[in-house]
Amino acid sequence: HTLYNTMKDIYSTAKVHPEPNVSWSLEPELTAIMAHSRSYKKLLFAWEGWHQAAGVPLKKHYQRFVELSNKGYQADGYADTGAEWRSWYDSPTFEQDIEKVYKTIEPLYLNLHAFVRRQLYIQYGSKYINLKGPIPAHLLGNMWAETWNNIYDMMIPFPDKPSMDVTNEMNQQGYNATHMFRVAEEFFTSLELDSMPPEFWEGSMLVKPKDREVVCHASAYDFYNRKDFRIKQCTVVTMEQLSTVHHEMGHIQYYLQYKDQPVGFRRGANPGFHEAIGDVMALSVSTPKHLFTLGLLKNMSSDIETDINYLLKMALVKIAFLPFGYLIDIWRWGVFSGRTPPEHYNADWWHLSFILQFQLHEKLCEAANHTGLLHTCDIYRSKEAGAILKKVLQAGSSTPWPEVLQEAIGTNELDASALMRYFDPIIKWLEKQNVNETLGWPEFGWVPPVPEGYPEDIGKIRKKRYEILFLFKLHIEMFLYSVSLVWLLPNLANFRVRFSLSHVT
Ligand SMILES: [Zn+2]
Repeated sequence: HTLYNTMKDIYSTAKVHPEPNVSWSLEPELTAIMAHSRSYKKLLFAWEGWHQAAGVPLKKHYQRFVELSNKGYQADGYADTGAEWRSWYDSPTFEQDIEKVYKTIEPLYLNLHAFVRRQLYIQYGSKYINLKGPIPAHLLGNMWAETWNNIYDMMIPFPDKPSMDVTNEMNQQGYNATHMFRVAEEFFTSLELDSMPPEFWEGSMLVKPKDREVVCHASAYDFYNRKDFRIKQCTVVTMEQLSTVHHEMGHIQYYLQYKDQPVGFRRGANPGFHEAIGDVMALSVSTPKHLFTLGLLKNMSSDIETDINYLLKMALVKIAFLPFGYLIDIWRWGVFSGRTPPEHYNADWWHLSFILQFQLHEKLCEAANHTGLLHTCDIYRSKEAGAILKKVLQAGSSTPWPEVLQEAIGTNELDASALMRYFDPIIKWLEKQNVNETLGWPEFGWVPPVPEGYPEDIGKIRKKRYEILFLFKLHIEMFLYSVSLVWLLPNLANFRVRFSLSHVT
């Protein structure tokens, strides 16, 4: 655990120095630059600088981390950490199951990728974007390129249609952190699930404290005493964070529902279930219908163009990194390079939760008698939907997850077809946009040139060898990103699930 904390500290304290007396931390400067800067050089500098600052010191701790982790699992009778991790799936055909999931979403991913690449080409030009190559990771709006919604503004399909982002309205109406959590709580109670106990409101940290340093990654905690459940989040009033609030509260709801199980069963049916619950709520909350109910949208008139805008943004959040999660080899390399933060070591489960949440959403919508397209469904106030969810949550890990899933939604396997139905309108639209595009990245060995004058015109303290290292890294990354389908190498995905009480974002 100490080692884990050391690794975590390296992440939270890594700094980039554009000038000798200026330093950028991951929160808030680097995150903001990755999200909002449209300067190729500045983005490259932030991305590369942070990977150097975080990745190099991490490397020496990593091997020890793997050793300790494997030792722990071997004591429990597993071959290694990976074997323990796979055991969670309760399926002998797990690898094939996942391949099937991946194959199902591949057309959506490839079309999204090609569309995003074209828009980036329009922004950055042919020098930096190869229309037959991979996308440089630093242009996707996020330090780990895992969600791409921050670059939505460069690729809005119908810019004249109203934005579904209600951030401004939330601010105008005086929303604050507590109110956002109350709104989320009210959604859960409308399904006849539990309200947050007084201890939650007393003990949680919902805004960033001014008097001390904290790691701002949102997380939820179960103190295993049936009373104390808390969230730590540096909440900012935005629509995106409203979704995060629901996500974190989904963890607390799970803790509350299984609190009377024996301690050993107070876990999700599998870790993916834990990650999916709050997101299922957010799928309803972010619909125009629900935003209208909350008074955050003035009207809820919907048309196909507005829907396409909405679904593209959702796809940039939910689809962009699914294949990334599939390539465990890259994940493992990502840890070495500093690309994967310790908070995301359970990322594989996180990814699978993105498949599961659409399966749950579809079933709950059916129970709520929703008619119409799946992405317009809001399960608010549906007791029937709440009852299905409650059963899943109360079981904790007392029953194998395929049985929990079977009972709840009538199938015992992960299946991406619900996700594909949800995104159906945007898939069709993207296919039309991409008729002349090359799908995928046949020129996977292509590497963008180092910009002229880089990095002297950004900061003067960098050393030349970093550039060479960086190019090497980028090359390896693109190579792996393109061709590696090796998967399920021993990994630490479950390490923090086992040894930590918390769930992070
Ligand atoms: Zn989470």
